[in-house]
This record gives sequence, C-alpha cells and structure tokens, in this order.
Amino acid sequence: MKQLSKILVANRGEIACRVMRTARAMGLRTVAVYSDADRDALHVKTADEAVHIGPAPSSASYLVVEALIAAARRVGADAIHPGYGFLSERAELAEACTAAGIVFIGPPATAIRAMGSKQRAKQIARAAGVPVVPGYDGQDQSDATLIAEAQKIGFPVLIKASAGGGGKGMKIAHAAGELGGLLASARREALGAFGDATLLLERYIAEPRHVEIQILGDQSGHVVHLFERECSIQRRHQKIIEETPSPALDAKTRSAMGEAAVRVAAGIGYYNAGTVEFITAPDGSFYFLEVNTRLQVEHPVTECVTGLDLVREQIRVARGEALGYRQEELVQRGAAIECRLYAEDPRSGFLPSTGTLERFAVPTLPGLRVDAGVERGSEVSIHYDPLLAKVITEAPTRAEAIDRMIYALESLEVAGVRTNRAFLIRVLAAEAFRAGRTHTHFIEEHFGDRLEMPPTAEESAEAACFAVVHTALAEAAERTRLTSLVPGFRNNRLADPSLRAAVGGGEPLEVHYRFVSADRLVLTLAGKARSVWIARAESDRLTLEIDGHRHSRAVIRRGDQAYVSGPRGQMHEVLILPRFPEREAAHQPGALVAPMPGKIVLVSAQPGDRVKRGDPLVVLEAMKMEHAARAPEDGVVEEILVRVGQQVEAEAILAIVKPD
Ligand code: ADP
Repeated sequence: MKQLSKILVANRGEIACRVMRTARAMGLRTVAVYSDADRDALHVKTADEAVHIGPAPSSASYLVVEALIAAARRVGADAIHPGYGFLSERAELAEACTAAGIVFIGPPATAIRAMGSKQRAKQIARAAGVPVVPGYDGQDQSDATLIAEAQKIGFPVLIKASAGGGGKGMKIAHAAGELGGLLASARREALGAFGDATLLLERYIAEPRHVEIQILGDQSGHVVHLFERECSIQRRHQKIIEETPSPALDAKTRSAMGEAAVRVAAGIGYYNAGTVEFITAPDGSFYFLEVNTRLQVEHPVTECVTGLDLVREQIRVARGEALGYRQEELVQRGAAIECRLYAEDPRSGFLPSTGTLERFAVPTLPGLRVDAGVERGSEVSIHYDPLLAKVITEAPTRAEAIDRMIYALESLEVAGVRTNRAFLIRVLAAEAFRAGRTHTHFIEEHFGDRLEMPPTAEESAEAACFAVVHTALAEAAERTRLTSLVPGFRNNRLADPSLRAAVGGGEPLEVHYRFVSADRLVLTLAGKARSVWIARAESDRLTLEIDGHRHSRAVIRRGDQAYVSGPRGQMHEVLILPRFPEREAAHQPGALVAPMPGKIVLVSAQPGDRVKRGDPLVVLEAMKMEHAARAPEDGVVEEILVRVGQQVEAEAILAIVKPD
C-alpha cells in the first residue's frame, strides 16, 4: 500500500472543494490550482496551499497537463485527483502522473483510453454481451457513408461526437435533408470541444430514461456496483436533476443492469470509481451508452443511500487498498435527489449568466447537503461551467426527499446572477415528476417553451413594496445621519414621496409612500393603499407586515438594482428608477446583438443577402455551446460587423438586417 500525504486537485469549483473536504478528513494535505480568473475562488481558499497555473481560458490553465504536473512537483504533492470535466477523462494526465511518480486518483490510462471513444466503448460493451443502441460506429466518416447509414437506421437519428461528453456535439436529425448541415455543425462542435471530429450515429430511442450504474473497483480486480442513479431530467441533454433509486426500476432490472455494468468494467480491467450509463426504453429494455471514467457530478446521491464516501473510496483504491466488501453487503437505503443550481438566465433561454454573487446563503436543514463552488462575493465568469452548487436532499422516501428539496431551494438565497432555481422547483412540483413518470424529454413535454416563470401581479407588487421600503429606509437613514429630521420628512408637504420600481424587467410601478411613524408607513401602489409595519429591518433582510400578513424577504441593494426574494424560490430583480423618466435609449431597428459574451465561430450571411426572420446569420460560441443569432425580421443583410474568431461582448451588435 502506498502512503499518501498531499493531494493536488486538478480542478476548480464545487468538485475541487468537495474532494478537498474528504482528503482533509482523511488527514491529507490539499493543494488547489488556479487560473488568473480564480485567484479569489472558493476552491483556492479551501485548500491548504495553492499554485497558479496560467491565464483564465481553461485551454491555457486547467487543461495543461504539464502545468499540473509541474505544480504537483513544486509543492511535493504525491497524488492528483482530477475531479470531473477538464482532464479527468484524458489518459494523458493519468500517464503523465505515472511517468512523474505521482499517484493518479482514477482508473488506469488504458481504461480511460478505451472508454474515451464512444465508438470503442460500444464495441467493448457488445463483446461483453451488454445490449447497445443500434447504430453506426464505424471508421468511415464521409458524409456519404454517414447519410447512407442514417437511412439504414431510420429517422430520427442521433448524431454524437465519439469523444463527446455533456451532450456537446449531439444533434437529432429528423430527416435526410437535415443531415448535411447537422453533421457539419456536430463536427465543428466536437472538434472545438474535444479536438476530435469523429461522429457516430444511433437510433433515437423515443422517451427513454437515463439510468446509470455507479461502479467501484480495486486494483486486485474486485468490482462492485453501487446501484443506479436516474438522470432523466435534462435540458439540452444536460442533466439537471438526478436521483436514486430510479422510480422506474424493479429489483430484477436493477440487478441485471448492475451485473451488466460490472461485466463491462471487469472486461477492461477497470478500477477506481466509474459510471456505466444506460438508457432504458418504455418497455423496460436497457441499452449501454458509455462509461464515464471518473467521479460523476451526481455522485452525492449514491453516497446518501449507500453511506459510502466515494472520494474516500477513490483515494483508498489509489493507495492500493482492497475495497473490503462484497456486492451482497451493499444496500440502498432511503431516497436522494440532487438539483444542479446553474447561473443561467431563464429569461434568455437559460444562457449562462455572469456577474458577482451579491448573496449566496444556504439554509441548514436536516437531510440537506449543498456542495457549492462559490460563496458570497464570488465572480461568476464566462470562462467556466456555470454550475454554482449542487443541492442534495435525502429522506426515507422519494416523496419526502422531493418535499425537502423544494423547501431547500425556496429557502436558498442567491442574488447577483440569474439562476435556474425557480425552474427546478417547478419541475419538482410537477405532478408527473412526483408520480415518477420521467423521461429525457420531460421538460419539453411538460414545459415546452414556457421555461420562464414570470412573477404574478401580486408577487411583483410585493417585491416592489419590499424594495421601496428598503430604499425609503436607506434614504431616511441617510437624512437622519445628516440632520435630525424624522424619517420621511419632506420639505414638499403637498405630495407623498414616490418611487418607481420595475420588477423583473416589467413595466415600472409607481409606489407612493408616507411614514406614519418610524416603523409604520402607508404605501399606495396601483391605486391600492397598503398598511405596512416594519417588524424588523436589517441591511439585507426585511420583515414586513403588509395588511396583516407578515413575511420576511432578503433585500439586497446595489445601486439602482435591488434583489428581493420571492415565495416560490425566485429572486426578483427590482430596478429602482429615477423619479422622473429618462428618455429611452435609442434602439437600432434590425440589429442582431450578442446575447452574451463569446467567440464568433461562423458567419453564414453576407451584406446584400436576402434573409427570412429566424435565419441563423452568425453563430457564437460561449461556454463551449453554440448559439445562433437569427435574423429578427425578413429583409436584406445591410452589414456584418464581426468576423470568425472574433471575441465579442454581450450586447455587441453582430449584424444589421434592413427589414422589408
Ligand atoms: P454525453 O457523453 O454527451 O453525455 P451520452 O451518450 O451520455 O452523451 O448521452 C447523453 C443523453 O442523450 C442521454 O442521457 C440521453 O438522454 C440522450 N441520448 C443518448 N443516446 C440516445 C439515443 N440513442 N436515443 C435517445 N436519447 C439518447
């Protein structure tokens, strides 16, 4: 057995913090690495020591094998944990570790290499007698062959990047006519994200569930499975809610899938933690998808029901220890759910949202675990994955785990960036989810385009009240600091003071207020007077009794912008407008603007081209995903203001279309 004393975590965000937590609990010293953008990041503060490895782009920092090995050498780390993402599934890191005499906390490089290609992985699974999705995983990558194979498979066909992960490069073709364009786009995404344009085709299974099996093996060849996780709730093929047990598996299918997973792992000499992914069809049949040769984002739910700490098991295996338990000794107890809290803007189709986290407060509740990579004051930049935290609940039953999750998400306070939190709550509360009727198109089926949850009129009014009271108190405090006037005193006795507040980008509401005493006021909003008692006022939280109903809300002010928490897990953004309206900023008609900062990867129109509303003109890549900027109207392209390779800011004008 190898003795380890210091572990370098070659990652960032929540997973780096999570790995360090266990390492420290095992008495190991921890080392963080960081880019220019992460000098103040939580994972750096969490570590015992930290090494700067390069500039912000991950290609120049977190993805540079030599920089990580050099960092480990410099501080005398004897092991590297890769986390997930970044280099975790790159055999080169595992090999470089071995060459440098550093222990790689993960599977052998040979297994990573075998499973890094979906092509080879499918061949291995087939050889192990495990069912795979029918499709094409051959070497010939010409359009002609791929199109002919797609026709053989039958539409719809799923195009996947062989080296892919995280749903990137994955496209559905519904008809032969679409294939040419989709293959080109999939290749471009695959090459950009993984440096390998190889594609494979699969029959598209209608309404499947995503069910995966956690495996764990030691270096003597003993492999067990730790049951399943269901990860069917996905948006754009990205998991957002994961749980165990799956509401869809009976004991027989569970053990059949578990055994299949162990067979695949044993067949490639796998050790350490890994995940064998399957999809299950509505008729109960299951098909192998791929093996993820690393710790998964959603590993905590497995920890909840098995009582094992997977990072501890990974470290033990890397030291050469035997697992020390047999399959029969493992049990699944209770139920656990994980929700991924992303910095995403529900108002713009869930594009990543960047900014400073003005607030991030996690409640303390029984059965709740929050694995966060951020804290109050953290910068959420464009450079990395927008995952802020994972919220995990466990309970004796699935129904109770869901209730706990909703309560936890509603109580969490996050402001400064927009998040998918309110949307997560809506999914959890949906009747079909509670009934366990989940599949990978659940969100499209139940929510369609209605992903946004605009506040009701009453919620807007309430948020405006809290923001206005907070502002009025701040102004009063400022005045009393300057003079000894009573709060709300105005020289102009003719009219009550008023403020205009726009909630969630909506129409501004005019709110008049009058202090009756230091802690009582009358607010008039939309012609309705409300009697308000300030039960408690702190700088970032107000408890108000409004017409006899008392509630407490987080209220955070940054300049004209206030954030007010809502009753359904929202964080309303309330803009306090100047008392007199200013002229609206001039709006350029027909302008296409960048929805977020990114890099231009394709310009598909030229000045003079006739375009139809909705035609993609410029493709922007941000956070490794492509976003098409589309013609806002039918018309003629007047100007293209960007070129391929150019980096643009949010709101930058990309092109101008002269409407007909
Ligand atoms: P990635 O490695 O990019 O995550 P996967 O192969 O694991 O790609 O697939 C991701 C998700 O895409 C699955 O969870 C499932 O929802 C969907 N998917 C994959 N293959 C198929 C298929 N053949 N038919 C239908 N859905 C699929």
